[in-house]
Amino acid sequence: MAFPIRVCAVCSEEFELKPDKPGFANRCPACSEPEPATSTTNRGMDADERKTQKEANEARRQAMRNLLYRKDS
Ligand SMILES: [Zn+2]
Repeated sequence: MAFPIRVCAVCSEEFELKPDKPGFANRCPACSEPEPATSTTNRGMDADERKTQKEANEARRQAMRNLLYRKDS
C-alpha cells in the first residue's frame, strides 16, 4: 500500500505521509519528534533568549568572582 509522498517543511526530505504519523502532516517523522530538552536550550533559541541567557551567565560569573575575591581578602 502506497502512501502519499510529501516534502518535509523543515528538512526538505521526501517522506511518506502515513495516516498514523504523529506530528505535523508537512513534516517528516524525524522532524515531527519533539527535540530532547538538552538540544532545545541551544538550538531552539532566538536572539533575545540567547542574549538573556548570556547576561544571566555573565551575572552568575560576576557573582562567583565577587564571592572568590571576598574569600581571598
Ligand atoms: Zn524533516
